[in-house]
Amino acid sequence: MQKKQENIALVWFRNDLRVQDNLVLNKAITNHKHVIACYCFDPKHYEISRFGFKKTDRFRAKFLIETVENLKANLKSLNIELFVFTNAPYQSIPNLIDIFKIKSIYLQSEWTAEEIETLNSIKKSVADNIAFNEYYDQFLYHPNDIGMSFLEIPQVFTNFRKKIETYSRVRPVVENPSADQINAIENTTQVPTLEDLKLEPFNTHPQSAFPFKGGETYATKRLNDYFFESKKLGFYKKTRNGLIGTDFSSKFSPWLANGSISARIIYWNVKQFEKLYFKNQSTYWLIFELIWRDYFKYISLKHKNHIFKVGGILNKNYHWKTDNDEVLKWINGETKSSFVNANMIELKKTGWMSNRGRQNVASFFAKDLMIDWRIGAAYFEAMLIDYDVHSNYGNWMYVSGVGNDPRNRKFNVDLQAERYDTTGKFQKLWLQETLF
Ligand SMILES: Cc1cc2nc3c(=O)[nH]c(=O)nc-3n(C[C@H](O)[C@H](O)[C@H](O)COP(=O)(O)OP(=O)(O)OC[C@H]3O[C@@H](n4cnc5c(N)ncnc54)[C@H](O)[C@@H]3O)c2cc1C
Repeated sequence: MQKKQENIALVWFRNDLRVQDNLVLNKAITNHKHVIACYCFDPKHYEISRFGFKKTDRFRAKFLIETVENLKANLKSLNIELFVFTNAPYQSIPNLIDIFKIKSIYLQSEWTAEEIETLNSIKKSVADNIAFNEYYDQFLYHPNDIGMSFLEIPQVFTNFRKKIETYSRVRPVVENPSADQINAIENTTQVPTLEDLKLEPFNTHPQSAFPFKGGETYATKRLNDYFFESKKLGFYKKTRNGLIGTDFSSKFSPWLANGSISARIIYWNVKQFEKLYFKNQSTYWLIFELIWRDYFKYISLKHKNHIFKVGGILNKNYHWKTDNDEVLKWINGETKSSFVNANMIELKKTGWMSNRGRQNVASFFAKDLMIDWRIGAAYFEAMLIDYDVHSNYGNWMYVSGVGNDPRNRKFNVDLQAERYDTTGKFQKLWLQETLF
């Protein structure tokens, strides 16, 4: 076994907020006797973005606070202290480096512009000999295993899926042994409250389709309930276009988005379910959807900042409007479509919207109202509990005709309502909400 280094390693957590199956953490513990960790509630993430929305509004912020509290407790059981900051990483991390004489930082690779800018600002604030050890760990299929370069990622999902299903394998989960205890470590840092982040506290809406808590402990509980207790996984393909309640789909996305569960853990549990009970189209379809998640990450790796441009990855020129009144009507559920309105009210009240709902409201925004799709995407970014930069911008581009939909379809929201909300139950549920 390789001899461990004596100096303390620092794990900088961002969107990998778990201790199970965490490659970054595993590398730090394997290479170093002692490990500390940090998480920064970066003020940048709570500012107003260029389209006038908060980058993170209260639903995701609450979920994140719960996640970091849970991470802190779970790391403690591995003898790792989590330091939590509410200032910019380029301020807090160099400070930790000085205090603990850190020489190695471990982190998950991120590639979007803001994340790179943040990392570079830290690099500029620390000595040149600090080693930054970065690993991709947010995928189901690891970039080294997909048999193609990022530039070769197909523009059509099916071609991508077929290639990786044929040539690639999902890696096994990694174990995380504990680090050695550090004596007399002082940590007075605290996980902030919503008020500390200048956001209003709230109670979860009684009809929320996502009433769950943040943190890997709750992600694991949800997985056990959805797979092994209720066996709802076995019906997933039949129910996944549902609109009401907790169980029409897995609801894994918020935990996946901040990394409190890994896609690999979900995959291997599907395999376990298939071994214990049965294998059917539904068990496969959950993995199929996780491949969509990977796909949008690879698309963003391939096209970099184009995913944020109005012409998208196709560089298409449409006559987009920016009508503020129309945007507000869409946000507040006051458009001419009651199906769109019900979905938008659900989002406003709960931070959640089903996939079917998202497709419809986004198509309506971009293809009926013809408003700059990035405004809608920025509103989703603020509100969604499960906001993930790649899935959000990838799906918005797809629906808006500037991304990966080869057929450039438009949703007929009235027909969709008839098909997926035949009795009008979903619309009734949320439209009555505007009354109080
Ligand atoms: C306009 C628009 C914006 C979206 N923004 C986001 C976002 O910010 N974050 C996000 O995680 N998903 C986003 N999605 C994708 C999808 O709507 C959600 O992942 C899904 O509704 C989450 O519910 P679930 O976990 O119950 O999904 P399930 O149906 O149970 O699927 C399991 C997992 O597969 C992945 N998945 C499913 N559908 C998609 C998809 N279309 N694209 C990428 N991954 C998928 C998710 O990780 C999901 O948790 C967006 C879709 C649209 C149309």
